[in-house]
Amino acid sequence: MKNKFDLTGKTAIVTGGGSGIGRAIATTLAEQGATSLILDLSLEGAQSVAKEIEANGGKAEAHPCDVSDHENVKGAFSKALGNRSLDILVNNAGIAHVGNIFNTTPEDLDRIYQVNIKGVFNTLQAGVESMKAKGGAIVNISSIAAHVGLSDRLAYSTSKGAVHAMTLSVAKDCLGHGIRCNSISPGRVHTPFVDGFLAKAYPGNEKEMFETLSKTQPIGRMGKPDEIGDLVLYLCADESSFITGSDFSIDGGFLTLNT
Ligand code: NAP
Repeated sequence: MKNKFDLTGKTAIVTGGGSGIGRAIATTLAEQGATSLILDLSLEGAQSVAKEIEANGGKAEAHPCDVSDHENVKGAFSKALGNRSLDILVNNAGIAHVGNIFNTTPEDLDRIYQVNIKGVFNTLQAGVESMKAKGGAIVNISSIAAHVGLSDRLAYSTSKGAVHAMTLSVAKDCLGHGIRCNSISPGRVHTPFVDGFLAKAYPGNEKEMFETLSKTQPIGRMGKPDEIGDLVLYLCADESSFITGSDFSIDGGFLTLNT
């Protein structure tokens, strides 16, 4: 009997894998037999996730990488991969911004652009270079913010719309190389990213805002990082071989049931 979603022998890069959703993705891929190469701004976070995976019998490595820096990404991919070619790339690293058209500054937009747009471009370019001979699977983490108008998410929504559009371009450009490229659009998922922006944007009211944000998902709660990891696993595995250029919402009904 063949095990479904088996990634034995595959090499996966997960950016921002030292925290939150990325941590769950790196762990899930390793549980299915992949070697998870965790690339993160914080080497400490990446190392702690790699150690945790290894302690549970999986294979993982931690490498420092600033996705916003083109040369740094090229160097980090080359160092992390060594003689291996890349099979799976998950573009997960991202940052948040709370602001609207009245108060977002050009500097705010530049900061989000550097990580959420240029960062994804940088890792896509390094990733497809390594994958183009043998093929592979790419999953970009977009957001529900790419699909509907949310209050106070101007720069962030702009960046996630770009991730969605880049997914389509890369899927098209890579059809002849056996590289599939898809994106997912999570609703709110409870991670340090959410706790961080609540503390920054709503100091003193974090608990109430957490409840309010939980209820905006029709299912009545935020997502769990492991639930995102399982969808990414499907899109990285051979079982999804007929899927490319698609975006999947994973949002407790946010995009479809909020009537
Ligand atoms: P998180 O807990 O803050 O994790 C993001 C990771 O990315 C952190 O380890 C962070 O490192 C790393 N990172 C930030 N800038 C980087 C850079 N320049 N180079 C390399 N790594 C960098 O966030 P999360 O909630 O897991 O979010 C992960 C992804 O899901 C993001 O793209 C986010 O936009 C998306 N998303 C999240 C939600 C949600 O509700 N949580 C919903 C939809 C989409 P440091 O900690 O060192 O900064």
